[in-house]
Amino acid sequence: MELKRFHWTAESVTCQSERTVQNHLSNGRVDQMKMYDVTGSIYEGMPVYNDNAEKQPRMDRQTNGYVTETRLELNVHTGTHIDAPLHMTNDGETFESISMEKLVGRCKVLDLTDAENHISKTDLEKFEIQKDDFILLKTKNSFDVNFNFDFIFLAEDGANYLVEIGIQGVGIDSLGIERSQEGHPTHKTLFSNGIIIVEGLQLKEVETGEYFLVAAPLKLIGTEASPARVLLFEGLSF
Ligand SMILES: [Zn+2]
Repeated sequence: MELKRFHWTAESVTCQSERTVQNHLSNGRVDQMKMYDVTGSIYEGMPVYNDNAEKQPRMDRQTNGYVTETRLELNVHTGTHIDAPLHMTNDGETFESISMEKLVGRCKVLDLTDAENHISKTDLEKFEIQKDDFILLKTKNSFDVNFNFDFIFLAEDGANYLVEIGIQGVGIDSLGIERSQEGHPTHKTLFSNGIIIVEGLQLKEVETGEYFLVAAPLKLIGTEASPARVLLFEGLSF
């Protein structure tokens, strides 16, 4: 029996995130549909929150003859993931409280690449955000290769503004939706109003606009978050 450990670099795992898919409709028409995979890759040596070594995934690959199996040790906030209320409140709800219906549907990618340091209410007021929207905040974070300690985050007043509108969910391209805010008010405000939080999106190649979102987490029970594969579809028709 052999135990191997592999080390990857950000460069070796870069892959094309955009795919054109031909969609054959029942009426004989063929539509071109674009799919964007906005998920970060998971590998040993990947960017993790605060570059904290304890947050690195571990992959122990064992080969016995021709049979290979890998044991994966993973913090549930690794890479692209969805948070549940338990993350910031001791008696908060666990991950299974988030229904898949809330993670599939239309979404809007907003261009916030001009935002410096954080996203405030003033930054968000420039957009026509409506009740029940699922918004994805594209910032300069999407262009970072390594963990950036000064990542752009959603400030408390921005979160309060989104609560006033009554959105369904918010996604951001950093491993956390906030930093440097005592008591984590952004997380708490969003959670207490049932707003879904998706973190760690990779939006570099995605233009501003409307997409069909499919955010598919692992079906974990009892945790405060789960890694998710997140796909955006453009030109989707049935
Ligand atoms: Zn998280």
